[in-house]
Amino acid sequence: MGVKISAIIFLGTGGDTYVVGKQIRASGGIILQINENQFHIDPGPGSLLMAKEVGVNLRANTALFVSHNHLNHCNDVNAVIDAMTYAGFDKKGVLIANNTVVNGSQSYRPILQEYYKNCLERYIVLNAGQKVGINEVEIMALKARHSEENAIGFKFFTPQFTLSYSGDTKYNAEIADQYQNSNILILNVPYLKKEKDNDGLSKEDAVKIINAVKPRLAIITHFGMDFVKADPLYEIREIQKETSCQVIAAKDGMVVNPLSYSVEQGQRTLIGFKEEKRGVHVRFEEKVKEVDEILEEKQTSLEEAEDKEFQ
Ligand SMILES: [Zn+2]
Repeated sequence: MGVKISAIIFLGTGGDTYVVGKQIRASGGIILQINENQFHIDPGPGSLLMAKEVGVNLRANTALFVSHNHLNHCNDVNAVIDAMTYAGFDKKGVLIANNTVVNGSQSYRPILQEYYKNCLERYIVLNAGQKVGINEVEIMALKARHSEENAIGFKFFTPQFTLSYSGDTKYNAEIADQYQNSNILILNVPYLKKEKDNDGLSKEDAVKIINAVKPRLAIITHFGMDFVKADPLYEIREIQKETSCQVIAAKDGMVVNPLSYSVEQGQRTLIGFKEEKRGVHVRFEEKVKEVDEILEEKQTSLEEAEDKEFQ
């Protein structure tokens, strides 16, 4: 068994249809590696390709999380389940999703196909406020205010740290309050300017939330066109100035070490991430059975069964 490492890996940081449509920023979601667990959050278009690019083995996914039924968050959910399970040949993993992804709504058909439900060990629908446990990690669904009415965020309580992921949501005080006591806060901030018809957070909202929560580390991601044009690095530096918190702009392929910000260490300003294009994390590879291995096992058990029959 490999060394236990925790990591947050960005397989995508694009947030609106212009950025995602032209793949100016990728849209493969976020990978959370916590001890022996690998969680994949919001697998948008290009998840498989980005996983390959960054060196993440999707076969090792323990669980898949989908915050809502918008294409840039859920488009590749079936493809990722296919990759995780070899199309059901090796049934495994858990899907945790909002209601629309599994059951649809008035405006949306569910993205999850019947076939892929059956490739999983389990699938669980979460509504805001509900909790679920996966191994040693507890996950709570957070309220979100979004055009997809069942949209949620996720709060991960791990033995080492607490991480909140906003998902797509507009701001209000109640929304911000849910992120309290997070060491790490990942905010989807598509908008540079706060405008009335925004369907998500703006830079100004992010400042308010970070000031209210005061996390060890805030990561801004899910950038829209205005943000990308304006240069996220500069804009994020401004947020940092206005909050006196460690704030970073996510980049495609970026890896963050969440333990560098854990309460145990009691340090505030460590920058624990490195940027690498390839070969970042393959530590789960050894644990995951590849197809020839499974075939061999199935063959062996078949032979054993036959042997028994003849005895
Ligand atoms: Zn959305």
